[in-house]
Amino acid sequence: MSARAEATASIDVVVVGGGPAGLTAATYLGRFLRSCLVIDAGDSRARWIPESNNCPGFPSGVSGVELLRRLHAQAVEFGARFDAAEVRTISGSADQAGGFLLDDGTRSWRARCVILATGLADKLPDVPWVADAVACGAIRLCSVCDAYEARDSCIGVYGPARDIGAHGLFLRAYSQRVYLLPDDDTDGGEDMRAAIDAGVRVLAPGGRLEFDGERCRYASSDGSPVVFDSIYPFLGSLTGTRFAAAAGAKLSDTGEIIVDRHQMTGVPGLFAIGDVVSGLNQISVAVGQAAIAATRAHAMLPFVPRGANGA
Ligand SMILES: Cc1cc2nc3c(=O)[nH]c(=O)nc-3n(C[C@H](O)[C@H](O)[C@H](O)COP(=O)(O)OP(=O)(O)OC[C@H]3O[C@@H](n4cnc5c(N)ncnc54)[C@H](O)[C@@H]3O)c2cc1C
Repeated sequence: MSARAEATASIDVVVVGGGPAGLTAATYLGRFLRSCLVIDAGDSRARWIPESNNCPGFPSGVSGVELLRRLHAQAVEFGARFDAAEVRTISGSADQAGGFLLDDGTRSWRARCVILATGLADKLPDVPWVADAVACGAIRLCSVCDAYEARDSCIGVYGPARDIGAHGLFLRAYSQRVYLLPDDDTDGGEDMRAAIDAGVRVLAPGGRLEFDGERCRYASSDGSPVVFDSIYPFLGSLTGTRFAAAAGAKLSDTGEIIVDRHQMTGVPGLFAIGDVVSGLNQISVAVGQAAIAATRAHAMLPFVPRGANGA
């Protein structure tokens, strides 16, 4: 007998990814009385959030872990099932008789529709203390999310010279003490010049980032180290979208999945939501896209009239 498990009987919708986007889609699908399986590798970007204060409905803030716990409980409440796995391949389409086939190398699943909610991973400074620094806010990864909390503090913006100017200018609206910390000595271009004109200072490139357990400092060769309340690294991100492209989805130059106004890729029945799609990587955007995709998937699935006693 083969060790390989056969594909499950077809599920209405498989959601790949169990972050805010995927969990919200699962709640909607359960409430549309559709069968839904969430396949999740368990590494949501939201787990890094020490406290979010722009997440709708949490005026006193909420940690990423607590938000995920609540979203998971809500999806379970409405019937979602979960498998811990990392999907490696997807093939098929809603137009084909067998729908979609998903595979993680040892197991496979069949689904009539698929929603990809696989997020992205931030590229972080290559230092062993980075997780501790994010946890205490010494390193921040999303200025739209938490520049408000950093206002009037000493803020560093770290990354390639050509990328950090615009972020520095954005943060200058929140503090008089904003410094650019280039990790290379290339020309920072118009963005950097605009930041400098607005009062942002630039430290010598190629300095060392250090962390004392509470705050970071940047030690450059041309002066004494500057201690920062927060440093925002802007080093880019990675999206694991190769398998989506292999399934027929089109990608942007930066690796995000391209979708239509219903969040559907060019493959009928294959949707994408959240950070894997959006230019604005925010929880509120992810959950809005989840509602749109789940509602469209429901409309594409066969109509099922309700029988007596819910049968
Ligand atoms: C430090 C920090 C602070 C932030 N603060 C805020 C904030 O205050 N407000 C705000 O709105 N946003 C904030 N964000 C951004 C927010 O976390 C993201 O926008 C949000 O998590 C996106 O949700 P998502 O479901 O699209 O992706 P994610 O939350 O990243 O979830 C994707 C899931 O898919 C899984 N996955 C990936 N590939 C596969 C695969 N092949 N098979 C199975 N599973 C897979 C991953 O393991 C993960 O569990 C912050 C981010 C960071 C890092």
